Amino acid sequence: MSGFFDTKIEFLKGMGPQRAALINKELNIFTYGELLQHYPFRYEDRTRFFKIRELSADLENVQIIAKIMKVELIGAGGKRRLVAHVADETGEMEMTWFKGIQWVQKKLPPGATYIFFGKPALFGRRWSIAHPEMEPLSQASEKRNNFQPVYSTTEKLRARFLDSRGISKIMEQLVQVCYPQIQETLPGEILHQYQLIGKKEAIRQIHFPTQPDLLHRARKRLKFEEFFYLQLRLLKMKVARTEKFRGQVLANTELLTDFYQNHIPFELTNAQKRVIREAYHDLKSGKQMNRLIQGDVGSGKTMVAFICTLIAIGSGAQACLMAPTEILANQHYEGLKEFADSMGLKIALLTGSTKKAQRKIIHEELLSGDLKILIGTHALLEDVVQFQNLGLSIVDEQHRFGVAQRAKLWAKNEDFLPHVLVMTATPIPRTLAMTLYGDLDVSVIDELPAGRKPIQTVHRYDKDRLKVFGFINQEIKKGRQVYIVYPLIEDSETMDLKSLMDGYESIARAFPQYPLSIVHGSMKADAKDYEMQRFVKGETKIMVATTVIEVGVNVPNASVMVIENAERFGLSQLHQLRGRVGRGAEQSYCILMSKYELSKDSRVRLETMVRTNDGFEIADVDLRLRGPGDLMGTQQSGVTDLLIADLSKDAPILTLARDAAQQLLAQDPDLSLPENAPVLRQVKLQKKSAVNWSRIS
Ligand code: ADP
Ligand code: MG
Repeated sequence: MSGFFDTKIEFLKGMGPQRAALINKELNIFTYGELLQHYPFRYEDRTRFFKIRELSADLENVQIIAKIMKVELIGAGGKRRLVAHVADETGEMEMTWFKGIQWVQKKLPPGATYIFFGKPALFGRRWSIAHPEMEPLSQASEKRNNFQPVYSTTEKLRARFLDSRGISKIMEQLVQVCYPQIQETLPGEILHQYQLIGKKEAIRQIHFPTQPDLLHRARKRLKFEEFFYLQLRLLKMKVARTEKFRGQVLANTELLTDFYQNHIPFELTNAQKRVIREAYHDLKSGKQMNRLIQGDVGSGKTMVAFICTLIAIGSGAQACLMAPTEILANQHYEGLKEFADSMGLKIALLTGSTKKAQRKIIHEELLSGDLKILIGTHALLEDVVQFQNLGLSIVDEQHRFGVAQRAKLWAKNEDFLPHVLVMTATPIPRTLAMTLYGDLDVSVIDELPAGRKPIQTVHRYDKDRLKVFGFINQEIKKGRQVYIVYPLIEDSETMDLKSLMDGYESIARAFPQYPLSIVHGSMKADAKDYEMQRFVKGETKIMVATTVIEVGVNVPNASVMVIENAERFGLSQLHQLRGRVGRGAEQSYCILMSKYELSKDSRVRLETMVRTNDGFEIADVDLRLRGPGDLMGTQQSGVTDLLIADLSKDAPILTLARDAAQQLLAQDPDLSLPENAPVLRQVKLQKKSAVNWSRIS
């Protein structure tokens, strides 16, 4: 009966074509089904009534029972307003309308007592509520609900009396006609196992709750359903991929053993070992690996990646590693070249600035198979880059790359899809990872190499600058190096460049004795590289930069990170930046500079940074502050299509829903069992609907 829910809302009794058109336009809602899913975003407790004398400026919406004393029109033309003077036994106030005056006027017989509802504001010495919701006290019957649903609406809708209450009235009609048609979308077994209420009941309660407990269960049920179908889709995609795509068997560990015995400069952490085992398991399985390695900054992802390439090369394949910036690609190349050379493996770097002659050699050696490891930027994705036998593609700092690019790397081997390893230093809360990367397997390096001292983080105001400079001086004298980072926000690039340049000058004045490096986005790649290299080699002591150094850059001798205008950075960015220090054996410091006046969110961000070094904890706070919609990659994942479930708050339900989806697919992969008919029907329905889920594969 999907057809019924496709009915246009204009056919709903009492709606009318004009209001329907307005709802179409304002809320992007066209059908019964869509309107039914316009869930209230909160509920108001209407058990409490305020007296006029109790009103205060910090109250949100209040309910007041008051008698209409006098109604008058004040002003003329555009400034005309309708004022109802009302009173209760404690005082007098005004109700005001600027729009729809004629219509309201009819509803305001002096002497009648009404329940008014809205946010009070003080004008002069008199309280006033603009455009209150209202209802005659006499009609406010027992059926009056204690939990009034609050629907999102718009200015234009409100002007046509489609405020929250107006929408609620329409919902009454809608739920009534839809109720008999609502079909269960979850199998009885799942309802039973997870103690969920039925769909019909849930829909009724969500719009017209009768008891707090039932409302709670209705919300839980609907959230569960959303997560369940999201996870089901992702899991099905994953199953399809692992069945369809074979990967070459990469099982030879001779090179790896050689490396372990003769070249590795340190003992691997247990977490690194575990993640290598997980990847090795995939590589030798004959199925294509698609694994995400999450590891906080400095957890040693590069080494894990290199060891995986050794398995690939040892088994007769080639490997490539793609980084988001030239600086990073360069650094990976420099770092890994040392090992590759000592083991006699040919390695090359390919970026936008690679010379033509050099490119030609790379292309040839890739095809002949001589070149074993190719490191680079997006340049790797070009069609001319063809391998003899690419076995493993590694993508560093995944959040900078789209999923489409991952797919492009797959296409580099016609016989077998290369195995794919994605590395990210953006700690993503588990709940989000499950959803964003539902089609990937996830490994976590949750341990830092031994001997690292936790970075000490402080928050300082601009007035403390002299002291901060003194501290910097002291550290440099001890032989350390320092980063000073300025924000770069796209829409004010010129301004930011100016603040960077001003900063650079004042630093140069404060430290005439030390050579400085400067790196920013408007510099040519080779100039950037030159400056960076001087810092890496220790020739310069202070690196003044914009966030281009954010990802991955590794200078173990740098022990101080100063972040200017820290209030302008997001939490995960601050954490990334801080991760540039604390890479050597010395005590490292992060100094967050900000102005004195801070927004509440900025303050929470800075306090969080000072409190903890734990990337996952930081990611959780970030998710709470920003909501999942703003996080990288969420736009393409379907997360933003969630209507009621909230990734930042409903993690426990997500986990349950994922378990349920997993269990269901394990028992009935093609959803052919009769008891799973509701699921099959729902999956088909969603395939038909506008959301194009293939985007995320
Ligand atoms: P990230 O995970 O942020 O990419 P890197 O791979 O750049 O971290 O590693 C950070 C630093 O830690 C590098 O200098 C690397 O050589 C070093 N490192 C990696 N693993 C270990 C280990 N097990 N013991 C000691 N140092 C390590
Ligand atoms: Mg890295």
